[in-house]
This record gives sequence, C-alpha cells and structure tokens, in this order.
Amino acid sequence: MFLDSSLSDARALLERHRPVDLHADTLMWSRWLGYDLLRAHEPPLPRAALGGHVDVPRLYEAAMAASCFGLVSLPFPGHGKLSRSVNEQIDLLDDVTRRAPHALRKVRTGAAIVSCQAEGTIGALLGIEGAHALDGNLELLDGFALRGVRYLGLLHFSANEAGYPAMGWGRRHDAGLTRWGMELVQRCEACDVLVDLAHINRRGFFDACALATRPLLVSHTGVLGAYAHWRNIDDAQLRAVADLGGCVGVIFCPRFLGGEGLGPVVRHLQHVIDVVGEDVPALGSDWDGFIRPTWELRDPRGLSSLVKALLEAHLPERVIAKILRDNALRVLDTH
Ligand SMILES: [Zn+2]
Repeated sequence: MFLDSSLSDARALLERHRPVDLHADTLMWSRWLGYDLLRAHEPPLPRAALGGHVDVPRLYEAAMAASCFGLVSLPFPGHGKLSRSVNEQIDLLDDVTRRAPHALRKVRTGAAIVSCQAEGTIGALLGIEGAHALDGNLELLDGFALRGVRYLGLLHFSANEAGYPAMGWGRRHDAGLTRWGMELVQRCEACDVLVDLAHINRRGFFDACALATRPLLVSHTGVLGAYAHWRNIDDAQLRAVADLGGCVGVIFCPRFLGGEGLGPVVRHLQHVIDVVGEDVPALGSDWDGFIRPTWELRDPRGLSSLVKALLEAHLPERVIAKILRDNALRVLDTH
C-alpha cells in the first residue's frame, strides 16, 4: 500500500517535536563576512553552495528548537592565538543574544532548550571545531565551557596537539590520540564539555571512546554502511558511540551521502538505526560549513520535507522525534 504523507502532516509532526541541529558553522560567516544572524537571507551562491543557510528568521520559520553553532579557527602555521578567534565568534553570538534576547538564547543543556521553547525562544549552542583552538593549553577549555561551549571536536582538517584528522594536513592512520589528547578527553568530562568525534581519524576515534565514561557525539557525519567515503564512519564506530549512550548527527551534504535528494539522508539515518538502534541518530546539517547541502535541505525550512520523507519510509513518529531532537536533547542533558 502506498502511504502518502502530506507536507502539512509532516509540518505538524515537526512542530510537535521541534528540531535540534547539532552543527552549523554560521558564526564563521558572521566573523569573516559580517553576516547578520538576525536578518533573513537567501543563500547567495548557485545551488546554495558554501553557506548563507542559517539565520534566526529562518530558524523560526522552520520551527526549530535549537541550533548548535560550530566555532571554527583556521590552523595556519604561525597564526598563534587560535583561541582568540574562537572567543571572537562567541562575542558575536553574545552580541546577537544581547540585541535580541527574546529571539535567541545561549544554552548548554537539553532542559534549557525545552524552557527556551516554552518561552518562544530558540536555543543557541556552541561547539568548538578542532582542539587546535586551545593553543595547546588544556586550561583554556574551562574558560570556554564557562562562556557556553557545550562540545569540543577534537580534530578538524589538520593534525593538532590532540591527534590526527581523518583527512587533511598531517593526516595519518597509524596513530591515535596523543597523551595530550587523552588528557583533553578527561578534561572535557571534568568541565562538562561533550567530546565530538567528527573529523578525527579512526584510531583516535576508538581511543577517545575507550577513555570516555560519558556519552559523546559525532556532530556531523555520514555513515560508511550507506556510502563509502573517507568522511563517513563505519559500523564499529557507530557501536562505540552507541555503547557510551551517545548520538550521531547525519550531515546533509550529498558529496558525503552519495547522492542528491532526501533519499540518501534517509538512507544514512536508517543505516544508523539498523546498526545501533533508534536512540543514536540525530541531525548534523553542517549548514554554513562550506558545503553544498542537498537542495531540499538548503536551509532549515527544508526540514518538513525531510520529515515527510521519513514518514514515507515508514518510520513511526516516536523514532522521527528521536532523530529530530530527543536523542540530541538526551546527550546534551548529560552531566
Ligand atoms: Zn566540520
């Protein structure tokens, strides 16, 4: 029997379970190009390439509960003071929340997202992308946590003091976390910062999981079982995250998903469910992260069409709610 779910049914479901996205790099655009989060935009480039995907008006239109903003610093040799660029991005978010306290509020927990929602405010989370941003100083993490940083991605596109990336400068596969990287995982747990394993190489991934005693996340990724690509994680990695009670945000980028349209996004989410169950999949768009998202998900307003596709794939509302927000909220509520 053909099950037709209309877009309005999908939208109603989405409004009952307002989405939380685990990764968007919008603050990078604010810092480099003066992109104003409070103004409505359309993606400036053809096919919505690179960015211009997220702003507060569109988060509202999309009925989202929260977005997690990545804090990116470029690890140019000799650049130094990478932590300063992270602080500047946090300053930018603080400026937005000061200018429009009823529109956007900085949060660190699932519970805070739920209370924002009750007040009609959208939650803004912060996650650092790459431990190079600590300038080799573990103690900086405590200050970032106090400024609202909720997760730390150990690696980005270059080797750093903590370990080696899955791809990029200094990549290697025969080494995992450094001693400093191991201390960093422990420091994260001590100051209530979630460990994010997006971008890290496979050895480092398992090293971090072996050390972790709390749930962690992979904020934006595809899965190898759905499409073979270096950016994606395999089933053993999924199991390691699931064993710790963590979650995995599926990215919206066709290049990593293996095709255009909503089908591949659904396929990756479904593979996570098939391998580790319904308590793991989440949303990790990577909007504004210099990617070209699949056209239907070129900005948050496309999430209703994703829900429609999930309904058409016969996923029950309970599972769709877990994908949209419940799994992310559970991990964000970890203390
Ligand atoms: Zn990334």
